[in-house]
Amino acid sequence: MVMEAQRIRQLPPYLFARIEAQIAKAKEEGVDVISLGIGDPDRPTPDHIIQELVKEAHNPANHQYPSSVGMLSFRQAVADYYQRRFQVSLDPKTQVVSLLGSKEGIAHMAWCYLDPGDIALVPDPGYPVYGIGTLLAGGTPYIMPLKAENNFLPDLKAIPEEVARKAKLMWLNYPNNPTGAIATLEFFEEVVAFAKKYDIIVCHDAAYQEISFDGYRPPSFLEVPGAMEVGVEFGSCSKTYNMTGWRIGWAVGRADVINALGRLKSNIDSGVFQAIQYAAITALTGPQDCVEAMSKVYQERRDIAVEGLNAIGWKLEKPKSTIYVWAPVPKGFTSMSFAEHVFEKTGVVITPGNGYGEHGEGFFRIALTVEKERMLEAFDRIKKNLGPFEF
Ligand SMILES: *Cc1c(COP(=O)(O)O)cnc(C)c1O
Repeated sequence: MVMEAQRIRQLPPYLFARIEAQIAKAKEEGVDVISLGIGDPDRPTPDHIIQELVKEAHNPANHQYPSSVGMLSFRQAVADYYQRRFQVSLDPKTQVVSLLGSKEGIAHMAWCYLDPGDIALVPDPGYPVYGIGTLLAGGTPYIMPLKAENNFLPDLKAIPEEVARKAKLMWLNYPNNPTGAIATLEFFEEVVAFAKKYDIIVCHDAAYQEISFDGYRPPSFLEVPGAMEVGVEFGSCSKTYNMTGWRIGWAVGRADVINALGRLKSNIDSGVFQAIQYAAITALTGPQDCVEAMSKVYQERRDIAVEGLNAIGWKLEKPKSTIYVWAPVPKGFTSMSFAEHVFEKTGVVITPGNGYGEHGEGFFRIALTVEKERMLEAFDRIKKNLGPFEF
């Protein structure tokens, strides 16, 4: 039998298999399961965006191969968004590339810059693709722990000099999945100085840039002076417009990095279906009240989750962005044993924090991706059946 390649064999084991089996069994037994485990918007894509897709799907000109870096009109729409929203000027021809969802670009970035043994600085807990993309390219992830006492920002001073010198990429993600943390412009300034000193390309994943609460507006990494010389930012229609299934995103920023990513991609995929690009243009340039409305929906669900936990012993602050609440497990539990305990007692699914890396141990994540009534039901069950807890 042909042996799988090392790059596949080294992929970490899937952590949630046991809990998923437990969920499947409970469903068979008729348990009314409420999943707060899924980081995927539950509401449909706004109708005006779907209508544009339908219209453009009928146009035969869109049935042929698209440009692998994206139509210029799509890249212009992304550049216009950056100008409007962040006062950041981008050249759509050289500083914007389309992606088949930002996850695709994140994974392929590693292939552009990492030779075997090269280091990428990777946050932990974090979106798994930064580390796995690094491994698939033959690179070595160096873990930057995200700790509560540092507001889940990496401590750049804790990175050893020789690691910083060898590192080629640094991954960041604010607003952050899974912690819900946000970054200040001062932190981004520190990152730019660090990247310049050690000649590192900063890759900022901004998937949650447009979901925010209590009047907060997340900044772009590219707003900071000098950021354009050291980095790129990844964005997507997925979370902003409930378009995770459509697969369209972008990378923007330093031209030679965007060019490298575009060159790699032109040899692997042939770009995004043009009708989807037209729909994304409509999303980015059309009315934005749907975006504001979604933030309000998530904010209401966030309040139910945080107030529900705080009523039985937690002391959480309300996150200012993302579709997640990140919380410590009570005394006497691991991430996994707590998730199993909650599920057994209530039928509510939460995600164990260690699924996002070793520094996620001791935490769990709640996704705000079910309707208010179901959130209320979930926290009602939690209140009635769990605790009291100590921390
Ligand atoms: C959801 C998410 C993305 C978006 O992925 P797409 O491929 O654009 O759908 C990127 N980064 C993080 C951290 C996410 O949670």
